[in-house]
Amino acid sequence: MKEEIIKIKEEILSELKKIKESKALSDLETKYLGRKGKLTVFLKQIANLSDEEKQKIGRLANETKQEMIRKFKEARSVISGETEAGFIDVTLPGEKRLLGHLHPITIVQNELEDLFRSMGFMVLDGPELESDYFNFEALNIPKSHPARDMQDTFYIATPHPNPLPHPQPLSFARRGERKERGQEEASVDQSDMVMRTHTSPVQVRGMLKYGAPLRCVAPGRVFRAEAIDAVHEHTFDQMEGLMVDKNISIGNLIAVMKELINSMFGRAVETRVRPGYFPFVEPGIELDIKCTICLGKGCPGCKHSGWLELLPAGQVHPRVLEYGGIDPNKYSGFAFGLGLTRLAMMKYKINDIRLFNSGDLRFLKQF
Ligand SMILES: [Zn+2]
Repeated sequence: MKEEIIKIKEEILSELKKIKESKALSDLETKYLGRKGKLTVFLKQIANLSDEEKQKIGRLANETKQEMIRKFKEARSVISGETEAGFIDVTLPGEKRLLGHLHPITIVQNELEDLFRSMGFMVLDGPELESDYFNFEALNIPKSHPARDMQDTFYIATPHPNPLPHPQPLSFARRGERKERGQEEASVDQSDMVMRTHTSPVQVRGMLKYGAPLRCVAPGRVFRAEAIDAVHEHTFDQMEGLMVDKNISIGNLIAVMKELINSMFGRAVETRVRPGYFPFVEPGIELDIKCTICLGKGCPGCKHSGWLELLPAGQVHPRVLEYGGIDPNKYSGFAFGLGLTRLAMMKYKINDIRLFNSGDLRFLKQF
């Protein structure tokens, strides 16, 4: 029996040498080591031997089987190595390494930050989870104000556990408004929180921190409880702008806006100014630009009007200056709230706002 095992072993080894491809190797493996393979079947006979013989032959049988399994494994790695991993075609073009992309809104934001820095503006940041006070109250939008209905706000059910006391607005003698204002201040609960509906709270935060004169922009995400369609999103990006100094007027605002539009689009884009109402500016304006997607003919991006609202803006309301601790008798300012998302849509001719937050690589790879 011992001779028989050695004979099968030599048979396998000599056949293995002739094998050149993996199909033949598998067939050979089955022929000897498969369930009905020659070696397997032969070794089953050991069970019928006497205990003494079993001991003698069992060890050899086991070792032989393990050795053969190893030999097949080696043969397989040699064959597959030569046909696949082991062969390198140096003439093939290299695989292009994929690089990440900046999001189109980030690109627009970076360009604007550069532009405003060149005009002496600071870039400020503010919290996305904002107090009701900074989001509304300090921007001249008290609780009872109908303007709160203009913005569909995400109110936060949980109050702030440890709210900081809000700074009291400075009171400068102006047209006897102090009493009225005092009543409104009493209505503010300092622990009320909202997802900020605009970047405007950073105006007041900036004024409180830096005083006047002041030039700053504040880019960031804002949130509205909107029904989503091609031009509305619940999360989008804005850039707030504020300039406070002596004798600042709407003329300064329009000059800065023209500079902005020219640099953004690389050419002069037709604009129009309409009066607009926002509680934190007086007077308020709406600056529109001719739709850059359809050039004024009408498309879904501009709701078929040919014009796109670029931004609301205006002279900072004297009361807002007071909330920022600045004397409105000495200083004036302009403010604007630029829609970064909308600007990116115009710049890159994107006609559906939902693409920005879609995470769709086919979209993002184009920038
Ligand atoms: Zn259009």
